[in-house]
Amino acid sequence: MVSPTSHEAKSTGIRERLGELCYNTGLLNPLQKMRAWWQKDLRILAYHRVMPVPDPERYPFDMELISTSPEEFREQMLLVKERYRPMRLTDVAAAINAGQALPPDAVVITFDDGYDDNYRIVYPILKELGVPATFFISTGHIDSGRPYAYDWLVHMILLTNANRLELPELNMDEPMPATRAERRALAIRVLGNMKEISALTQAAMIRRLETAWNMPSDHAYPADCRPMNWDQLREMRAAGLEIGSHGVNHWMLSKLPREELEREVYDSRNALLRELGPMALLMSYPVGSNRAFDREVIEVTRDAGFDLACSYISGTNLQPASNRYSLYRIAVERYYGKAWFAALLALPGLIGYPTPAHLAYTDTSCSH
Ligand SMILES: [Zn+2]
Repeated sequence: MVSPTSHEAKSTGIRERLGELCYNTGLLNPLQKMRAWWQKDLRILAYHRVMPVPDPERYPFDMELISTSPEEFREQMLLVKERYRPMRLTDVAAAINAGQALPPDAVVITFDDGYDDNYRIVYPILKELGVPATFFISTGHIDSGRPYAYDWLVHMILLTNANRLELPELNMDEPMPATRAERRALAIRVLGNMKEISALTQAAMIRRLETAWNMPSDHAYPADCRPMNWDQLREMRAAGLEIGSHGVNHWMLSKLPREELEREVYDSRNALLRELGPMALLMSYPVGSNRAFDREVIEVTRDAGFDLACSYISGTNLQPASNRYSLYRIAVERYYGKAWFAALLALPGLIGYPTPAHLAYTDTSCSH
C-alpha cells in the first residue's frame, strides 16, 4: 500500500528521471547488457490487478491494488518477451533443485490475490504473447466468491454513513472525513496500523465494522472486487499458466497461532491439489513484508511440500537457492510509465529501491 502523496513524491523522483533518461537516450539496452555480465539475478515481477484505471472519485474500492492498465500490461509483457527470458516459476524451482544456473535475464511474472480481472484481462494477453505467469490465489475466496477483506475494508471506509471511525483495536477514534480522497488516505493509515495486530483480531475488527455499519461482505459480491473461480483457474492452468497458494483467508501468516498457521498453509495446498490436480507447490505469503512471515512460517511452508515461496520485499534474487522461501520481487505500480518500467526492469538496483530505507518503506507500505 502506497499513499497518494508518496506516489507524487516518487513520480518526480530522481530514480524515475534517471530511468527515463537512460530509456530516451537509448542507453538502457547497452546498460542492461553490461549489467548482465556481472549481475546474474532472477527478477520476479509482482502484480495484483490489471484493469482500466478508474476515476478515484467514483471507484469504491482500493486503487492501490491496480498495478497497471490492460494496454500498459500488454506493452510490459512485450518488453519482457523481447528483451528478457520469461520463465515459469516451476522451471526456476527445477533448476534450483538440479543445481543449475538460471539463464541470464530470467524474469518471472506473478500475480497475488486472484481477482477475476486476472482471468478476463491478463490471461488473454499472456496467451496471445505466450508469456508464462504464476497466479497466487487465496483459496477460501475462490471457494466462496467473497470479496477480499482488506479491499472490503477500504470499500466500507469510502462509503459508510458513520460519523466516526472507532477502532479501539488500533487505538484510532476520529471523525470520518467528508471527501473521498481523505477517506482513501485514512483507509491507507488503517491498513498500515492493522499490520501490527494479530490476523484474527484484524478479521474480527473487519467483521465488527461490517455489522456496525451494516455493510456485510457475505451478501455482496460486487463485480469490481470479484475473485476468480475454479473453472477459470482450471482453464488457465490447462493453457500452461501456474497457480500457487496465497493462503486460504489472506491472513498474515506470522500473525497467527501455530494451529491456524498450519491450517492456512495445508488447507490452501489441499484445495489447490483437489481442484486443479497434481502440481509443483508454490507460495506467496499474504502481505509478504518482513513482518508477514518469519522462520516458523517458512518451516511450515517447506514442510507442507512447497517448493518456493515469494515475499513482497523489493529486490532481485542473486542466488535464489539461498532464499527460495523468501524470494524478493519487484512490485509494479500503476503510475509507472513505459520508460520507468523499462528502466526498473533493466537496472532494478539503480531504478528500484533496494536500500535499507526502501526495505523499511516496503515493510510499512505493501499490504497485499
Ligand atoms: Zn495479497
